[in-house]
Amino acid sequence: MDLRTSVEQFPGIGPARAKKLAKLGIETVGDILRNFPRDYEDRRTETSIGRAGEEQPVCIRAMVAKPPRLSRIRRGLDLVKVDVVDHSGLAQITYFNQSYRKDSLQVGKEYIFYGRVERQGRAVRMTNPVTEPADRQATTGCILPVYPLTAGITNNIMVNLARWAVDGCAHLWQETLPADIVERSDLMDCTAALRGIHFPNDFEQLERAKHRMIFEELFYLTAGLALLKDRRTNVAGPVCRCPSLQPYLDLLPFAPTEAQLRVMEQCRADMASGRPMNRLVQGDVGSGKTVVAAAAGWIAVQSGLQAALMAPTELLAAQHFKTLSNLLAPAGVRVGLLTGSMSAAQKRQVQEQIKTGEIQFVVGTHALFSKGVEFDQLGLVVADEQHRFGVEQRAALNAKGASPHVLVMSATPIPRTLALMVYGDLDVSIIDQMPAGRLPIDTFVVGEDKRQRMYGFVRRLVGEGRQVYMVCPTVEENPAAGMEGLPDLKAVTTYAKTLAEDVFADLRVAFVHGKLKAKEKEAVMAAFVAGDIDVLVSTTVIEVGVDVPNAALMIVENAERFGLSQLHQLRGRVGRGKHQSYCVLVTASHSDSVKERLGVMRATNDGFKIAEADLRQRGPGDFFGSRQHGLPQLHVADLAGDMAVLEQARLAAHNLLARDPGLSDPAHRAVRERVHALFAEQADIFN
Ligand code: ADP
Ligand code: MG
Repeated sequence: MDLRTSVEQFPGIGPARAKKLAKLGIETVGDILRNFPRDYEDRRTETSIGRAGEEQPVCIRAMVAKPPRLSRIRRGLDLVKVDVVDHSGLAQITYFNQSYRKDSLQVGKEYIFYGRVERQGRAVRMTNPVTEPADRQATTGCILPVYPLTAGITNNIMVNLARWAVDGCAHLWQETLPADIVERSDLMDCTAALRGIHFPNDFEQLERAKHRMIFEELFYLTAGLALLKDRRTNVAGPVCRCPSLQPYLDLLPFAPTEAQLRVMEQCRADMASGRPMNRLVQGDVGSGKTVVAAAAGWIAVQSGLQAALMAPTELLAAQHFKTLSNLLAPAGVRVGLLTGSMSAAQKRQVQEQIKTGEIQFVVGTHALFSKGVEFDQLGLVVADEQHRFGVEQRAALNAKGASPHVLVMSATPIPRTLALMVYGDLDVSIIDQMPAGRLPIDTFVVGEDKRQRMYGFVRRLVGEGRQVYMVCPTVEENPAAGMEGLPDLKAVTTYAKTLAEDVFADLRVAFVHGKLKAKEKEAVMAAFVAGDIDVLVSTTVIEVGVDVPNAALMIVENAERFGLSQLHQLRGRVGRGKHQSYCVLVTASHSDSVKERLGVMRATNDGFKIAEADLRQRGPGDFFGSRQHGLPQLHVADLAGDMAVLEQARLAAHNLLARDPGLSDPAHRAVRERVHALFAEQADIFN
């Protein structure tokens, strides 16, 4: 038996079960070893009948005192009752629909019963406990691993398989981490870690085993990202010759902030370097990322290349198209728009213009990735608000040009340690400065009792010529809302109707949500931008990027339903002009955790601080859990609280690569193979 032995060699696994296991990605002994438990159940506590508490499940060692009694209650329901004793007393055990227990439990024999104890007066009862002969304990008296399962595969099967694999083959697992790293980082060796992660003797051992596995995984990941970055710097990129940004800066209606200037200069240097730029620009909402994107586009076009800007929604694409046309058309740049909702004829025409190079700077949605789109000379790809983009899509567009420059814009601030992981292969620029003259947004958290006052406030602001957003968590009302404990959520359609007909009958109220047709959405947004709508009721479709400087109030209904980073994005829709702006978070919740969460919004306008708070409250799982970042799936999924390991693993990987940049030393062959295997499945994603 070795690591490649098929699971079918295990007694009890026939072709049918093997197929089910394959669904879990398990075909060989090696796969079993690499299939880590998702949780653990502490079944070590053994106690006596007399002392067993009711809070936690426990193991009781007791003897069957009398023959078990089977009774049929009705069709499909029978029960076996049996009395068991130990030195401290008697317990009555009931099994539902386990009639075989009548014959399998032997009088006078000792068993372990694991489960929760119930006490009624003097009586002690257990229902459906896990039951094992005391001399053959397999799943009791230990910390039991709990594995991911699929229909037809029980945890017992998995535990037995794991035991078989660990006992037979854990020692065959080859150590791939270099010995000096294992030693210097004080890691468990891989065999001990495999044993420890499947069948830990105690939680301390489990922690050490997990630590080793997480370290290993992050080590290969960071090493891989670093290698990708190196590989990229060895590829030739389009050279953009642009001696000065001044002609572009002269087009701007305002003076750029120092931060914007710095990032634009970084892009200029990247694009002139002869290597493809691969840069992430992080800037809080409203920090002015669009003009940076436009600068890069302008540089590309000056150099005779085409630029493409991808936006996550039609709304944003249309807005960017307008902004870029206004800004760049006077300089002779031909800007175009391509979105999914355009007619086939329109699309064909734009595609033709992209192909001939007549359009120099094209803005679009994912329609930019479709097959029909060919570029004449694609030199730059900008992805706006990239957290909404599949990384695959980015790659698809990249593939349309020969190693084009890539600029990724993100308004989701990611704490530094995480950013290093997620964007390890990108250079990062941060726009850490807001345009001058912005007034901080005043934020309030209010309950239902303030609703009328809030409406009054809306009326006052509209009277002053401002516009207002009202965001709701849902589109349509659930007919059962408010009943049977279902949350009473504000729905865009009904709420907008109430507002338009009753509350603000004299104001111009409209609504927009994701279920509307693109054309309808656009029409409403266009009207809002033009100032023809006073109050816009919407879902989070307006969350990203929409820019209406005259909007001065953001109201979020059922604010407790939104994540902090999302609330921050929503709030960023206001405070973009010269007017004092406000954000009102409405919640009927009295829960302390909600108050604390929303309190963070009151306390700071700083997106990075808010992201840190979000990270503390929800853990990094959210960042790693989504495949949006295009990172290889991590097996040791639960990274919460593992920021320290992350840093440790990253340093170790970087030290190793500093010593042996290509991992060509024969001693590092195993490392090289692991890294390549890790990225093999999605080799084209990081380019
Ligand atoms: P975001 O970073 O959220 O994408 P935008 O690029 O949409 O921000 O910019 C927000 C608003 O600020 C826009 O109306 C833009 O014209 C304006 N703006 C950008 N940079 C400056 C600046 N340096 N001075 C004044 N206004 C600016
Ligand atoms: Mg933006």
